[in-house]
Amino acid sequence: MVAIHRIVLYYAFTPLPDPEAIRLWQRSLLERWGLRGRIIISKDGINGTVGGEISAVKAYVKATRELPAFKKMDIKWSEGSAEDFPRISVKVRDEIVTFGAPGELEVDENGVVGGGTHLRPEELHELVDTKKKSGEKVHFFDGRNAFEAQIGKFKDAIVPDVDTTRDFVAELDSGKYDHLKDQPVVTYCTGGIRCEVLSALMVKRGFQEVYQMQGGIVRYGEKYGDEGLWEGSLYVFDKRMHTEFSDKAETIGKCVGCEGPTNKFENCSNPTCRNLRLFCEDCAKDETLRRCPDCSSIDA
Ligand SMILES: [Zn+2]
Ligand SMILES: [Zn+2]
Repeated sequence: MVAIHRIVLYYAFTPLPDPEAIRLWQRSLLERWGLRGRIIISKDGINGTVGGEISAVKAYVKATRELPAFKKMDIKWSEGSAEDFPRISVKVRDEIVTFGAPGELEVDENGVVGGGTHLRPEELHELVDTKKKSGEKVHFFDGRNAFEAQIGKFKDAIVPDVDTTRDFVAELDSGKYDHLKDQPVVTYCTGGIRCEVLSALMVKRGFQEVYQMQGGIVRYGEKYGDEGLWEGSLYVFDKRMHTEFSDKAETIGKCVGCEGPTNKFENCSNPTCRNLRLFCEDCAKDETLRRCPDCSSIDA
């Protein structure tokens, strides 16, 4: 009989006075059940992805939830196995998501203090409908790295100019989005974790009506698939690189070579470069074309 494997993804914002003790405990849990994965712990919470044989993952989740701080933690199950991770990595960092603003974040037993109002997918639709009746527009604000939105996003979403999550603070402080401060704004990201922090940073900077997509695009897609306000593919941080909610998903990405439709990111042909750009199957074969502008200008 073939063993069934699964991955769990989870996060919790909660005060952890002794992150190092949590690190040792989590590491021992993974080792005990032969699991692999990546866990980041800070004084403000935990963020993990863990995979392995299903009964072992269940035992791990049960043991983790025994800590009162993690009792109510939302756990997302998905396809995958321990093989998806190179090893066990359990680390203590300043932040569980790197905004470069550890001093700004405030958490208590209920999570992030002063964040945007959480909306379930159906509540998001209600908000959009209600605002529409009063002649207002709800602005979607992408909380991911800008390139991710090239293949999928909420319709008409604002995509901030960020290469990494670290760029958000400067982007918000630039004044570019100040016109939204008195308007309804919904932040969204893949699984919800980035919006917990991003929405709080926005509230702190004077945005008056901030909401966040609870459970992120993943939960929204489970509920509405391609029949709602989402368009395109979802970028994912594993070998697949993108996923679709149904076979009706639009391909909104454009090949940098021929502008044909594609949702496939390719690495720059310089092996030391991490730039990802969109290519169709044919153009991807062209090594020169796949060299990104940064690397080509070095060659010249
Ligand atoms: Zn092409
Ligand atoms: Zn490059």
